[in-house]
Amino acid sequence: MSLKSGLGYDIHRLKEGKKLYLGGIQILSSKGLVGHSDGDCLIHAIIDALLGAAGEGDIGQWFPPTDPRYKDVRSSQLLKEVMRRIEERGIEILHVDTIIITEKPKLFSYIPRMKETLASLLQIRPEDLGIKAKTNEGLGAVGREEAVAAWATALVRQK
Ligand code: MG
Repeated sequence: MSLKSGLGYDIHRLKEGKKLYLGGIQILSSKGLVGHSDGDCLIHAIIDALLGAAGEGDIGQWFPPTDPRYKDVRSSQLLKEVMRRIEERGIEILHVDTIIITEKPKLFSYIPRMKETLASLLQIRPEDLGIKAKTNEGLGAVGREEAVAAWATALVRQK
């Protein structure tokens, strides 16, 4: 048995008139994230943390932005695909921690539902998943409400 950790990061541009998906749920907002998929940068960061811990490359290798199969796909579907591989490998997820960085909208009220959705996708208990939302103090692209960024770590056990 061995423990492994993984780290993931992602950032996507915000655009007026698009739906906003973060952490697998839809958030009320006039702007949404631009991406080949639904642009859910929190799920993308979690996927990269899991792939990093599993030694399975990165999200760009798994789901190339040039592949029409993944055009406008919900990122929860991508996470399900990665989870199938994690299970095949006999890897157990022990803990996932995350940070979402966004100036607007405020995410506090969405966190319980995000937690429930993501814990179920990751097949872990809600108490084994951390979701923290913070602002960028008005600085940079995130501070100007032009983008949303996310970080994630994963701790896994190879059985
Ligand atoms: Mg991404």
